[in-house]
Parts: sequence; structure tokens; C-alpha cells
Amino acid sequence: MKQYRKRLNMLIQGFKEVYAIDARILYVLLIDGLVNAIFPFISLLFTSMILNQLIVEASFDKLIPIISMALGTGFLTTLISNGLRHYRETIRAIALDKKNVRLNKESMFMDYEYIENQKVHELRSHLEIAELTGGRGLYALFFIEGLIKQFVTLIISIVLISNLFLSRVANQSPFKFIDHPLIVVLFIATFILYFKYSSILYQKVMIILSKVMQEGEKGNNIFGFVLGQLFNYQSGKEIRVYHQQALYKKVFMDMGATANKASRSMEKSENKNTLILQSLIHVLLGIGFLFVALKMLGGAIDPGEIVIYTGAFSNFIMGFSEFSSNFSRILGNSELLEKYFEFMNLKDVKPVGTLPVEKRVDNEYELEVKDVSFKYPGTDEYALKNVNLKLSIGKKVAIVGMNGSGKTTLIKLLSRLYDPTEGEILLNGIDIKKYDYNEYLNLFSVVFQDFSLFSFDLAQNVAASTDYDEKNIHVALKQAGFSERYDKFKNGLKTSLYQDFDKDGVEISGGEAQKIAMARALYKDSPIIILDEPTAALDPISEFKIYANFNEIVGNKTAIYISHRLSSCRFCDEIIVFDKGKMIQRGGHDHLIKDLNGKYYELWNAQAQYYAEEEVEEWILT
Ligand code: ADP
Repeated sequence: MKQYRKRLNMLIQGFKEVYAIDARILYVLLIDGLVNAIFPFISLLFTSMILNQLIVEASFDKLIPIISMALGTGFLTTLISNGLRHYRETIRAIALDKKNVRLNKESMFMDYEYIENQKVHELRSHLEIAELTGGRGLYALFFIEGLIKQFVTLIISIVLISNLFLSRVANQSPFKFIDHPLIVVLFIATFILYFKYSSILYQKVMIILSKVMQEGEKGNNIFGFVLGQLFNYQSGKEIRVYHQQALYKKVFMDMGATANKASRSMEKSENKNTLILQSLIHVLLGIGFLFVALKMLGGAIDPGEIVIYTGAFSNFIMGFSEFSSNFSRILGNSELLEKYFEFMNLKDVKPVGTLPVEKRVDNEYELEVKDVSFKYPGTDEYALKNVNLKLSIGKKVAIVGMNGSGKTTLIKLLSRLYDPTEGEILLNGIDIKKYDYNEYLNLFSVVFQDFSLFSFDLAQNVAASTDYDEKNIHVALKQAGFSERYDKFKNGLKTSLYQDFDKDGVEISGGEAQKIAMARALYKDSPIIILDEPTAALDPISEFKIYANFNEIVGNKTAIYISHRLSSCRFCDEIIVFDKGKMIQRGGHDHLIKDLNGKYYELWNAQAQYYAEEEVEEWILT
């Protein structure tokens, strides 16, 4: 019972969500269900009236008007029904779109740490699978017109059947026994038992279904990944060069086999249930018809009314069977609804302040990383340990170190994609958690190592928006060194990057993509700018040149340069050496290189070996 109440509460919460998404859909479904439940009874009423005229009254005078009214009403109800259906489908399509937007919005705005969290991926995949396999989850609540229709049908049938029970058989009739109150009790008890039995059967189907879902979830993730890879430029190359087609084919075949196995086991179990329940229904229907016949023979009702009451019985029994299975089905959704709300409520974890960031013309922003340590959620190892760092305005800082030493993690903390596990980060002496997050983020331009450009036009990529200032975009592209290529673009700033959505789109090289990503950072014109090795794929000399050139462009902004190559950051005021999550050395290049026992010297020498001597000399001279 407790479980039942919990499910019911979840269902109510689900309907509140649908109401919040688009209230119209609930009204439309309600009216649609109501109208479609009433219409069959109207036609039953006319049939009964016609029969009564023919059998009881044996009069043909009123027959023509009744038949005309029946035809007119039939035409009208069809018209209303069709109109309603059209309206219902239109509103439903809009409401489902809004539901998807809500879900996608949630994915876009949720704390970044969830994006890197496997469990959250599984949760979202669970919701998708629920919708794909039989339209379950919140999705199902947009399709309840059948349930409403069945419910109203039940109510009307119950009223009619009660009336039948109340119509007494003549005292001298041999069928008087059917007026006995025990018959009513027997009827009610039979239906309660039927309801119980059908929900037990349905529970069994749900258990199989949840097993199917668990299997399907992993498959769906892999399937989604593989599908994304097939038409992907980058992986398209590897698929061909390494003959990965066979591997992908196997994934598809395995997925197909799992899905088939799952749907077969579902089908088998549902078929068995349908057979049992349908047989029971027909027995009940037979008993109902017999009851009506006996009532008529006993003189309790007119022969014409037999149509109404047999109709009421069949509507009641069919409605009852459909209602009970659909109601169990919709209640069975409550677990999925729980998952839906779990996903939708994820964002409340990160504390977000309201303090506005002081607007300073002099850009006097000072960032201080104070004794910060950090572990990724679900891991035991520190990715950063006791980091202390001060970034004052105009300072050029380099963070260097081997791969995996914690450089990117520090940037994630500075941009609050994660919060420190221990310690704090201060902006002008105040904990960054206290600031309005959007205002705080406006202080940063970051070019990540794995930056992404979108298959939209160039201007939108640089401005990261559909609103932009053309002049500033030109300046940023020029500063980033993209002018030469840009001059060849036929559609100027409106030229699409890549050809995913535009056959006139342009293909760009890795180096050109980096330049556009840098132009995006420059266009944002933030006081603090960070390059997190977007140039890692380039050779060390090119990286050094780009970094040095970039440093000229950023002028007096605060800049953080990250690289695993020490040579790229020689020009910086301060170089911080990271090793296994710790800051182990700091200072200028000339100072660090003199410490012959230091990590910096060791790395410098190790890396220098890879380049020809004259190149190294050329660097040092530049
Ligand atoms: P770097 O930028 O210096 O190459 P990172 O900051 O990316 O290094 O990584 C530091 C450490 O944190 C590495 O051991 C890495 O495996 C780990 N790490 C990075 N991202 C995650 C993550 N999302 N979850 C768990 N561990 C991570």
C-alpha cells in the first residue's frame, strides 16, 4: 500500500510537470477523452430508441425523425471527434517539443561535473531508452486520452448498470432470483479479483521489461556512440584506414540480437497475459449478457433497452480491462518518473552566489588560489594538492608540466567547472563561490586543448552567438592570424564551417581551427585569458611562435599559458612547474634553468634532445 501511494504521488508529480510544460495538453486530453467516451453511448441511445419504436411501440411515425436525428448526431460527433483529434495532435507535438527543450536545457545548464560523470550519462540514457521502448516515462503522460476515455466510459457504464440492477424483475417471474443482493456482491467481487489478477500479470511484464531496459541501456549508449562515429569526419578516416567496418558491424549485429531477444521475451510474456485476460473477459461478457437477457425476460426492462445495457456491459468490461492494464502501465512509470526528476534536479548541487563582479575599467582583478587541493568526484587520488598561486592584472603566467600533472584541472577550478575539494579561490579577496556565476565567467576567455567549433557560420563561431559585431570579429580574426584564409571565403563571415548543414561550407585544417578558437577568445575581450594547450598537436616551434604572438596581442590582459613543452612559455613573467598535482617550482626561465637539480632543468634537457641543435639555438636567440 505504501509502495502504491508512493507511485501515485510520483504520478501526480509527473502530471504537475506536464502541466508546467504546457497546460493546454492536459485540457485537450481531458476533453478528448471525455467526448470520445460519451459519443458511443449517444449512438447506443439512438439504436435503443429506434428498436423501441419498432418492437414496443410498433409505430413508424417517429422513426424518420429519430433516424434523421441519429444520422445528424453521428455526422456531428464524427466532425467534432476529427477536429479534436487534429487539435490534440498539434498541441501534443508542441508540448513534446517543449518537453525535449526542457530536458536539453537541463543538460546544457547542469553543473559541468555531471557531464563528466558516467552515472549521469546512464541516467539520461535511461530516460531516452524509456521513451524509445514503448513511449514510457514522462512521455507516456502526454498520451492519456485513452485512459481518460476508459475512465469516463466506466463511470457512465456503472451508472447504467446500477440502473439495470435497480430495475426489478416481476415478482411472479422465474428469473426473480437475479434481483438477489448477493448477485451485486458477486459482480463487484469478480471485478475486484479480475483487477488484482491483471495487475499481478502486469507486474510480471514490468519485471521483464526492467531487465530488458538494463540490457538495452548499455547497448543504447554504444549504439549512439557508434552511430555518431559513422558520419564523423575524424573517425571516418580511421574506420576506413583500419578497416573498422567489421568491428562496427558486429556492434550493430549484437545490438540487434539483444534488442530482438528482449522484445521476443516481452512479446511472449505479453501474449500469454493477453490470452488469459481476453478469455476471462469473454466469460465475464457472457455472464453480463445473460444477466441483461434475464432482466428483459423477467420484464425489468424494455426489449429496446437491451441494446443500451448489453452495450453498457461490454463497454464496462472492455473499458475495465483496458483501464486496469493502462492504469497499471502508467503507475509502472513512476520509477522512470523518479529518474526523470532525479536528472532534472541535479543542478542544485553547486553553490551559486549572487554577488555582482565589480566592473573595473582598469581591469584590476586579482585571482588567488589558496591552498587548493582537488579530487575528481568518485576518485581517491588528488589531481591537485596544496596549490598556491596569485594572478595579478597584466601578469603572464605559464603552467608547465608533464601530461596528467594537473594543469587542465587547475583551469577547470578557476572557471568553476569544479569547485576545490579543499582550500579556496579568491577574486579580489572574496571567495569566487560568492559571485554570480555568469558574471564571474565573463572574466575568462579559455581556449581548451579539446576546443570545439560548430558547424555554423564563421561569425557565430567567433562570437559564440547569433548577435555579433562584425567589425570586432574582423579584428579578432586578423589578430589570430586567420585573415589570409578568410579573404578566400566567398560568403565572408556567413561562410559555414564544415559541410554538415551547408554544401558551400568550408573544410578547415587543425591549425586554422585553432586560429578561429583563438579569435573567439580574443573577441570575448575578457580581462583574463587562458590558453590550455590548444596547440598541442603542433610542433614545438610553431607552438612557441603562436604563444609568443598571442602574448603580444593580449597586451596588458592577464594571461595563463599551459603547455607540456617548456620552450613555449619562456617569455612569461612567471613559470610554474607542476608535477603529480603539486607546484614544485616557480620563477622566470633564466632562474629555473639554473637549478640543475630541478624538474624544470630536467624536462628542458629531455625535451631539447628531440630538436636539432640549430633549432634550439634559433629559439634561444628569438
Ligand atoms: P594535464 O592537464 O596536466 O595533462 P589533467 O589536469 O588533465 O592533467 O589531469 C590531472 C589528473 O586528473 C590526471 O591523473 C587525470 O587522469 C585526472 N583526471 C582528469 N580528468 C578527470 C576526470 N574527469 N575524472 C577523473 N580523473 C580525471
